[in-house]
Amino acid sequence: MADNHRLGVLAGDGIGPEIVPAAVQVLDAAVAAAGGAPIEWVPLPVGAEAIATHGSALPPVTLETLGQLDGWLLGPHDSAAYPQEHRARLNPSGFLRKHFDLFANIRPAKAFEGTPALVPGLDLVVVRENTEGFYADRSTYRGTGEYMPTADVAIAMGIFTRPAIERIARQAFELAMRRRKHLTIVHKANVLRLTTGFFRDICRELAAGYPEVRVDDFHIDAMTVHLVRHGADFDVLVTENMFGDILSDLAGELAGSLGIAPSVNASHEHAMAQAAHGSAPDIAGRDLANPTAMIASGAMLLDWLGDDLSKRAADLVERGLRVTVSRGVRTADLGGRAGTAEFAGAVAAAVGELT
Ligand code: ATP
Ligand code: MG
Repeated sequence: MADNHRLGVLAGDGIGPEIVPAAVQVLDAAVAAAGGAPIEWVPLPVGAEAIATHGSALPPVTLETLGQLDGWLLGPHDSAAYPQEHRARLNPSGFLRKHFDLFANIRPAKAFEGTPALVPGLDLVVVRENTEGFYADRSTYRGTGEYMPTADVAIAMGIFTRPAIERIARQAFELAMRRRKHLTIVHKANVLRLTTGFFRDICRELAAGYPEVRVDDFHIDAMTVHLVRHGADFDVLVTENMFGDILSDLAGELAGSLGIAPSVNASHEHAMAQAAHGSAPDIAGRDLANPTAMIASGAMLLDWLGDDLSKRAADLVERGLRVTVSRGVRTADLGGRAGTAEFAGAVAAAVGELT
């Protein structure tokens, strides 16, 4: 068991340089409160800043160093704003997911007590397969995934493989075992029988190994309706890449605001904490951003590290966030007046009071 972790800090674009340091501050407070050795933070260039200093949105030094770390915080990036010649690595987070085979995208959606949620009581986790499915560019067969045979025809392929489905299904079942033991498989097997039907069938096969987990399944379209009507009835949802991308945005918004939706992208070796939202250029640099999603993503990373101290620190971060919000300290997106830095300071202080 490591008692001291080295974690990367990739600030990113837009509100990234505000919310990532906020997460570092709160994680430091939580690790100290849990009695752990301080995290060794390793700042690494990414995004527009890295283009300016290293000539690449994702310089080799960043990739090489990340490979030696257990995990990292990745701020949002605004790749649409990068100069044309940086197309090859246009999307740093997509590239990192693929490079490190971060096959599981775990996105919880949980309403904070006392904040307006479209679905009160929502508390679920979307487990999204992150390497193949209907985002064919992510697959091993990259290059054949999307193409134009003629100027008037565009074709995209979906790729579904047994090993990738088995490993994501296993993650989802393990998570369900630690939660309310209810797993919902999301597919579209009435139309996409071979691909999403395969996904559903393999998930069902694995259910035999988890007899305590109640398993059901829905078509993706019906699922959106159920989430809006009675989302609080769901616990863990497992689905392919594109369905998971869309469902988790929906679930995050039903839980409150995008500003509170965290995520982690993980393999068995590496984990990348990443807020579900984008770089929010409209509010960047004005101390307006809600750092909750980034902070809560950092807590998920601590939890993923798996040692007792990190898990205790992760729990403190989550409780610190809830206490702070329940005291009425909120950023503008949740109807409050606190700035990014003030909110982060309040959470760090709350974490200190909890022990
Ligand atoms: P991307 O393409 O990078 O995902 P996007 O188009 O989905 O970006 P976001 O950057 O996520 O857009 O922003 C969507 C809206 O939500 C914007 O109005 C933004 O200000 C707001 N928003 C996003 N994140 C936050 C946050 N952490 N705090 C407050 N508001 C936010
Ligand atoms: Mg977005």
